[in-house]
Amino acid sequence: MILGVAMNIGIAGAGLMGRLLAWQLLRRGHRVTLFDRDTQDARASAARVAAAMIAPYSEVAGGERQVFDWGLSALTRWPELLAELKQDTGIDVYFQKRGSIVVAHARDRGNLEHFQSLLQHAVPEHQERVHKLSREKVSELEPELGTQFDGGLWLEDEGTLDNRELLSALSRAIRTLGGSLKGEWREGVVVASVSANRIDCGGEIFEFDVAIDARGFGAKPQLHDLRGVRGEVLWVHAPEVNLTRPVRLMHPRYQLYIAPKRDHVYVIGATQIESESLAPITVRSSLELQSALYSVHTGFAEATVLDAFANCRPGFMDNLPRIDCSNRTNGVPGLLRVNGLFRNGYLLSPFMLDMSLQCIAGHVHHPVVRELRLVESVNEQ
Ligand SMILES: Cc1cc2nc3c(=O)[nH]c(=O)nc-3n(C[C@H](O)[C@H](O)[C@H](O)COP(=O)(O)OP(=O)(O)OC[C@H]3O[C@@H](n4cnc5c(N)ncnc54)[C@H](O)[C@@H]3O)c2cc1C
Repeated sequence: MILGVAMNIGIAGAGLMGRLLAWQLLRRGHRVTLFDRDTQDARASAARVAAAMIAPYSEVAGGERQVFDWGLSALTRWPELLAELKQDTGIDVYFQKRGSIVVAHARDRGNLEHFQSLLQHAVPEHQERVHKLSREKVSELEPELGTQFDGGLWLEDEGTLDNRELLSALSRAIRTLGGSLKGEWREGVVVASVSANRIDCGGEIFEFDVAIDARGFGAKPQLHDLRGVRGEVLWVHAPEVNLTRPVRLMHPRYQLYIAPKRDHVYVIGATQIESESLAPITVRSSLELQSALYSVHTGFAEATVLDAFANCRPGFMDNLPRIDCSNRTNGVPGLLRVNGLFRNGYLLSPFMLDMSLQCIAGHVHHPVVRELRLVESVNEQ
């Protein structure tokens, strides 16, 4: 096995990171085998449940500065990646970067001011991309919001994409490229463990030049410092609503977000719960989401609920993502664990993809990468 030569690579987990890695590795001429316990529509992954907002500013207010720094390039990297994906599949995945709008009802104006001061404190040198809006400016950007809110913020450098379209385009690209490169997609397979050069599917063991663990929260049995943070969302079809940008509503108990997709489809979410339960969405959350939604735009009253999802964001204790590389032979890592994308998979995955590809090609010195020496399990470190 020599660097630069086509390698045999196994990937456990075909969610967001697993699919992106498989696709790009196939494009580089490697042979890739993907394993997932789910089917190709990925309904059990955090990737499918997510609102897929690319929101460095909203996330850094009260969050981690590294997430902002590492994620900022996503708004230029996604269009490049999606152009390549279109070349490979003909699918034009919905993506827009028109910024997001943050609003609050008059009684909650203090929450909006608090959010703005957190943002100012977190990224003082980027304040020219944060715009305070009058009622007229809110209506100019989003005509259907103007009557409800007498002001707000416009975070110019934010965007969103359609994750359903992305996941299915990635799946098609992997199949297409895999067909000519003998890649395989072993769906419906539960991976018991991933270690150097091997993926163990509960008795059946597969050997690879590089084994990649991209199981998200599903890697917890091997990564004890990983936790799941539950999130609940509704996917709705609202023909009477014409919002073109992600909207966040500040509220004393939660922040509601509304992320538009194509054809009047919106993803609505709010709750972040320190719980690892994968149980379906509760009536209470669903009622809270729907009444907050109605308070933003009465047109949501006639919306139909397409899906109600709950899943866990995979987070480490410091809320930062991590790439663990170990067992290098001739410079190639036998094991790569890519995890901890937490609330920011769509913001961070282009960066995590590029760093992971660099790690496979050689040593990388960056705080997101841990180079570990010859270990059987990263967890034993
Ligand atoms: C409610 C909610 C809203 C979100 N909104 C946003 C947002 O707006 N913007 C943003 O940037 N991020 C958002 N995220 C976060 C984002 O979805 C995650 O960070 C991202 O999906 C993590 O990617 P991953 O590939 O590590 O894990 P996943 O996408 O969960 O993929 C893991 C895959 O591994 C498979 N798997 C797990 N265990 C096993 C096993 N033992 N054997 C075989 N297969 C296995 C799973 O089936 C799954 O397909 C949100 C997440 C949630 C839950």
